[in-house]
Amino acid sequence: MDERLKQELANWLEFSREMGIEDFYQRAAGSGEPLPPPPSQRTPADSAPSGPAAEAAAAANRQAFSVAAASPAAARPSGIVAAAAPISAPIPSLSLFEAPSPKRAGPETLEQIRADLGDCRRCKLAAGRKKIVFGETNPHAELVFIGEGPGADEDEQGRPFVGRAGQLLNRMIQMIGMKREEVYICNVVKCRPPGNRTPEKDEIESCSPFLFRQVEAIKPRLICCLGAPAVRTVLGIKEGITKIRGRFYDFGSYKALATVHPAYILRNPREEKILREDFEKIREFLGR
Ligand code: URA
Repeated sequence: MDERLKQELANWLEFSREMGIEDFYQRAAGSGEPLPPPPSQRTPADSAPSGPAAEAAAAANRQAFSVAAASPAAARPSGIVAAAAPISAPIPSLSLFEAPSPKRAGPETLEQIRADLGDCRRCKLAAGRKKIVFGETNPHAELVFIGEGPGADEDEQGRPFVGRAGQLLNRMIQMIGMKREEVYICNVVKCRPPGNRTPEKDEIESCSPFLFRQVEAIKPRLICCLGAPAVRTVLGIKEGITKIRGRFYDFGSYKALATVHPAYILRNPREEKILREDFEKIREFLGR
């Protein structure tokens, strides 16, 4: 192993320990799975949001948020399946090297995480944004929604899901007997991608540690991933959303439900019933 890689690995381990992660797991011997190249040797092909490197980075990120929170006391409703793969050997990832100082005592508050984010310039999305969309509202929410990224309205207002997709989300939240102020809503990335394109791997890697820290601060009973980028980032699942939606997964000690993004329903209004179905599962899980 070359010296630079060794040093990166040492830094990463130190960072992980400071985050409270003591246990590391090795891939099964002879699994044959190739290790991704170190960040310094990655090629553009390695940047595609799929493959072992993406999976390992997502796993490392998921591990980085820690798994200390209590899981919902409720028995698993039928249909809960384990996350696609067990967390595998952590691979050094840029997001972890670039993550802010982890020297913190005890659980963080959302205010502390927001302060740490500051006037974030960690990725290229900063250049085009008007406002950072951190997330809102209830810091003790039982239910956290994770979308993809801010659109034009959210970028203007600095609040998540305030446009047309947000109105549909609000309607679904009300349908299950909840109020928007009761839940917490955030996104995989906190700045608007140009032209509302899908967030790119490096942007997700820079931003998702903050998302995971938010989840850890809130300790919800259930996370609802809205659309493929959220499902990929949180659960590391790359299959098509319409195939894997409506099911519960494990995310550390949390439960997560995967469903379609409300914007998909705006484009395909005849599919609204699938969103309704999935929200009914949320209602059942939370015992509403
Ligand atoms: N779409 C998202 O994914 N997030 C928002 O905040 C708004 C629209």
